[in-house]
Amino acid sequence: MNRTLVIVGASYAGVQLAASTRELGFDGRIVLLGDEPDAPYQRPPLSKGFLTGGFANERLPLRSQAFFDEGKIEWMPSTRVVRIDREHREIELHDGSRIAYHHLALTTGARVRKLDCPGATLAAVHYLRDLRDARRLAQTTHTARRAVVIGGGYIGLEVAASLRQQGLQVTVVETEPRLLARVASPWLSGFMLRAHTEHGVAFEFGRKVVALHDMDWSVSVELDDGMRLVCDLVVVGIGVVPNTELAADSGLKVAGGVIVDACARTSDPSIVAAGDCASFVPHWAPAGARACRIESVQNANDMARTAAATIVGRPQPYRALPWFWSDQYDLKLQMAGVNAGFTDYAICGSVEERRFSLFYFRDDELIAVDSVNRPQDHMFARKLLANGARVSPQAVRDPAFDLKTVASRDAPAPRGVAQ
Ligand SMILES: Cc1cc2nc3c(=O)[nH]c(=O)nc-3n(C[C@H](O)[C@H](O)[C@H](O)COP(=O)(O)OP(=O)(O)OC[C@H]3O[C@@H](n4cnc5c(N)ncnc54)[C@H](O)[C@@H]3O)c2cc1C
Repeated sequence: MNRTLVIVGASYAGVQLAASTRELGFDGRIVLLGDEPDAPYQRPPLSKGFLTGGFANERLPLRSQAFFDEGKIEWMPSTRVVRIDREHREIELHDGSRIAYHHLALTTGARVRKLDCPGATLAAVHYLRDLRDARRLAQTTHTARRAVVIGGGYIGLEVAASLRQQGLQVTVVETEPRLLARVASPWLSGFMLRAHTEHGVAFEFGRKVVALHDMDWSVSVELDDGMRLVCDLVVVGIGVVPNTELAADSGLKVAGGVIVDACARTSDPSIVAAGDCASFVPHWAPAGARACRIESVQNANDMARTAAATIVGRPQPYRALPWFWSDQYDLKLQMAGVNAGFTDYAICGSVEERRFSLFYFRDDELIAVDSVNRPQDHMFARKLLANGARVSPQAVRDPAFDLKTVASRDAPAPRGVAQ
């Protein structure tokens, strides 16, 4: 009997899961359901080249139509799954129809966290998660002159850079005392602040937005110290909320994300979850760490591969090295590993020329590398971190330090981290 895999959510994790299950020999039916009308597309350019016009729209699709045809992947756009009936192993669609499954995959991702203050629904307020948001925002940048960006995380900073490149005046409001507080080291935060300031972006740190006031042709953004910033456009980038309602309503274990084990299995063995919606204890986390979600393309793709292996009956724990990137102005930031709890760092390259890498150490162990405009360093750093080769802060600080050679050395003892 042919078996059916139903995948809910047609973006990075969903598409990769379909691809990987086929590659691993799954010969049953694969149904990929997504509630967006567009063919699965790349999200990262939406805050970068899509806004500046430097990214060709033809490059947006994640896969060609041939991928779906040849892989016999039944992609259904504009199709929302509203319920999981675990007892009968069926999912229910927005039109009331049902599809039976043997395996179900939840790759429902996340949605933007909304601003919660008076005036939050004014037409000049924008969010950025999907292509519809990006098209709407891109249209306004032709006429707007002044923008306030709420949130100094990656999305906020990428939007700030893109709007500056379009000639808008930009002010970023951030509740924390520094940029990228949740994800970057204070050193990198400081570097990014200098870069944005040099490009003319203004910042308000430690401030909360308490209200937005409609002023006919503009908006006044009121901060908690009484300051008012007048602008034509507000972009909110204050994080995301995982789409876990389907899972929670069907009784799956949910806590800040759909809880999965190292093999991407939810609390129901016939259901896997992967990507932004899934919460798990990463292999690199300290003992006793709580489950968390990771919001990145790398995680969505690699976790989907793990889930696919589970579906075909060859479960393998998720061990991939985390990595991430961000483009702002002419800066290409690439991060490998996780620098949480670092005790020392060392820099190689030239900070003045904006071509350098930051190596983070926890005690003697290298745990992460951030590279700025050094893509080769990033690739070697991933290799280095994955194979566990030893390197010291002193070695990195030595002008003769050769990352390529160090990364190519055999590891003293494998840490079991896949590249
Ligand atoms: C503007 C922007 C820039 C980014 N830049 C970077 C970057 O530079 N580097 C990086 O690594 N990451 C970046 N990210 C993050 C990255 O895009 C996400 O981590 C990634 O998209 C997660 O993929 P996913 O498949 O898990 O979820 P998503 O991409 O969120 O996709 C989930 C899909 O499921 C659909 N869905 C949800 N519920 C249902 C339902 N009930 N029925 C049917 N469909 C449903 C959603 O509409 C969506 O299409 C960026 C994100 C954004 C928004």
